Amino acid sequence: MDFKETIQFIQEKFKSKDFIPLHNPIFEGNERKYVMDTLDSTFVSSVGRYVDRAEEMISQISQTQRAIAVVNGTAGIQVALRLVGVNPGDEVLTQALTFVATANAIQYNGAQPVFLDVDYDTMGLSPRAVSEFLEEFGERRETGTFNRKTGKRIAACIPMHTFGFPVHLDELMKLCRDWNIPLIEDAAESLGSEYRGKPTGSFGKVGVFSFNGNKIVTSGGGGMIVTQEEEIGILGKHLTTTAKVPHAYEYFHDQMGYNFRMPNLNAALLCAQLEQLSYFLDRKRRLAAEYSTFFESQGIIFRKELENTKANYWLMCVELGSLEDRNFFLEKTNGKKVMTRPIWQLMYRLPMYDHCQRDAQTNAEFLEQRIVNIPSSVTQEYQLVNSK
Ligand SMILES: *Cc1c(COP(=O)(O)O)cnc(C)c1O
Repeated sequence: MDFKETIQFIQEKFKSKDFIPLHNPIFEGNERKYVMDTLDSTFVSSVGRYVDRAEEMISQISQTQRAIAVVNGTAGIQVALRLVGVNPGDEVLTQALTFVATANAIQYNGAQPVFLDVDYDTMGLSPRAVSEFLEEFGERRETGTFNRKTGKRIAACIPMHTFGFPVHLDELMKLCRDWNIPLIEDAAESLGSEYRGKPTGSFGKVGVFSFNGNKIVTSGGGGMIVTQEEEIGILGKHLTTTAKVPHAYEYFHDQMGYNFRMPNLNAALLCAQLEQLSYFLDRKRRLAAEYSTFFESQGIIFRKELENTKANYWLMCVELGSLEDRNFFLEKTNGKKVMTRPIWQLMYRLPMYDHCQRDAQTNAEFLEQRIVNIPSSVTQEYQLVNSK
């Protein structure tokens, strides 16, 4: 099999024999109008109404109390960890099968990741792996749960909803409650995804979205911290805006804050994109359905949302039979300018994380060798329908 039909199918869907990217943004709504508006008003930087509006829109979309716009998703995760009390010397439970930002954000806080396996079905942090780790190494003390092996405090748990497929949240939340470990959702990839009818990002103590150029909606660069807790929201805003104490003219900062505020220029773009989110979701789900039927006819596994969940199908993916099949698929498709990419290399293969504690990683290594992302943009024919 040389994947000729697959290449042809993708070229037809995207109406192109030229380069077909994994995910390109489309600007068919109010993007120009809102961005021009910031220029006309001169409010392009850290003050402006689009920042407030984008925060309100995300708070509504994610069904959370408060949303805080930040410069990017990575910065959002960095602050989210601090907001739940992660301190230098602590440890944070996460998956090795993730984009590097999740692990970096932990390390930015002077903490260390502990890499636990993912589930085969969700490709996200496995409740079974977390439970087994805590049973073996967890020690309950008054000040929290500690790792018996390292003596360090386990200060947070941060699952990531891989490609927009929600993790098993009920089970993870129960474990985190039982062990008194705050849960943060790395929802960078899952804006618009749902678990049991509720948006991802709304389950953890804090959630984080990304609006990087390749995500489902983009602000050029940007992110959002969301939370259900009013005090965390207030502190989050404070920390991401240099921790300045409001005063008519004095500069007094009561802690080490960050200059992580999203510029109004980016927020303007984000507002226009968010207005089209449900439309984007619709079209991506339609493409996913078509891919599903097609790949089934080819005997290739196309990854679909699980029961009780709704995936945003940010990046769609297929599961090949082996590493050799995967490499052959990558070679053939990219050779014909159909962009496909393997899933990330596991975090402990990277030099800065190779010494971190981890479990057996059976599913993570299985998926690492087989999962490939395929072109997932809102397709051209749908764009034309939308353009006014
Ligand atoms: C995109 C992404 C981020 C970081 O987002 P940026 O806005 O690019 O900093 C974090 N985690 C995951 C899993 C991501 O995919």
